Amino acid sequence: MPRVSPPDVDRAAAARAAIAARRARAEVKDAVRRRRRTALDVLEAGWADPASAEGGMRVRELLASIPSLGPVRTQRIMRELDIADSKKVAGLGSRQRARLRSFLVQREGRGKPRSRLVVLAGPTAVGKGTVSQYIREHYPEVLLSVSATTRPPRPGEVDGVHYHFLSDEEFTRRVEAGEFLEWATVHNAYRYGTLRAPIEAALASGRSVLLEIDLQGARAVRRSMPDALLVFLLPPSWEELVRRLVGRGTESPVEQARRLETAKVELAAQDEFDVKIVNSDVGSAAAQVVELLAVPGATRADRAPA
Ligand code: 5GP
Repeated sequence: MPRVSPPDVDRAAAARAAIAARRARAEVKDAVRRRRRTALDVLEAGWADPASAEGGMRVRELLASIPSLGPVRTQRIMRELDIADSKKVAGLGSRQRARLRSFLVQREGRGKPRSRLVVLAGPTAVGKGTVSQYIREHYPEVLLSVSATTRPPRPGEVDGVHYHFLSDEEFTRRVEAGEFLEWATVHNAYRYGTLRAPIEAALASGRSVLLEIDLQGARAVRRSMPDALLVFLLPPSWEELVRRLVGRGTESPVEQARRLETAKVELAAQDEFDVKIVNSDVGSAAAQVVELLAVPGATRADRAPA
C-alpha cells in the first residue's frame, strides 16, 4: 500500500475544499444572474460571514453577474468606486462597503424593470392556444405577440391577428435578415417564429408582452433574454391531455400519434420553467398568466396600453 504522508493528505483536502468553494461561488453568481438573489443580498451575506462563498467572491465577478451590467460597465463602476480588481467581498474596507452599498441601493431602486416578457409554453394540446385566445378576448390590455408561421390558416384564423401567415420564401428571408427573436420547426412540419422588433419596442416602452410558443422557442428565449419569465402550462392529467388532442379533431391519426409522442417528451421539461400552471379551467389559467405579467412595484400607468 502506498504511504501517504500528512502534507499530501492536507494538499488533497485543500484542493477538494477549493473546488467546493469555487462551485459554491458559481452558484451564487448564477442566482444573481437569474435574479433569484440581489447583489446587495450577496454582499450582506459575505460581510456577515467572511468565510462564506459570498465573502470569498471577487467584487468584480459579483457585479458582472448582475443582468444588464456586463464586464465593461463593471470595470468602469469598479474604478468609480475605487475598488481594486482583485478585491474580494469580505476584504472590502468600511468606506468601500458604504460606497458599494449605496451604489447598489440606488441602482436596484432605479433600474427596476417596468415591463416583463412572459413566455407561455407547455406540451402540445394542453390548451396554450385556448388560454391565449381567452386572454386576447378578455384582457385587451395584454400585449400578445403575434407569431409568424409557414402553416396555412385554419378556418376562422385571421392574418395579423392569430399569426402572420408567411410563405416559405418570406420566412427564410426574415430568418436571414435576423428578424426573429427565436424560430423553430414545430412537429417536424411548419416553421413558427417570434418577430424581434415588436417585442423589443414594447418592452422598451414599459409594456409587458406575452409569448405563446413551443418548448424549443421557450428555451431559445431563455438563452437570449434571461430575464424572461417562463411559464409551463400543465394538463390536469395525462388522460385529459390525450382526450384534448383526440377531441380537437384538427389533426389526422398519424399526426395525433406524432403529437402525443412529442407531448411526452415536452412534459418531462416542466422543471426547467419558473412557474407551472395547471390548465383545469381556461378562465382561471388565463387569470394566473395575466397576473404574472404585472411587475411588482410597477404602477398601473406602466402597464396600461400605449
Ligand atoms: P398551431 O399550429 O396549433 O397554431 O401551433 C403549433 C405549435 O406552434 C404550438 O405549440 C405553438 O405554441 C407553437 N408556436 C406558435 N408560435 C410560435 C413561435 O413563434 N415560436 C415557436 N417556437 N413556436 C410557436
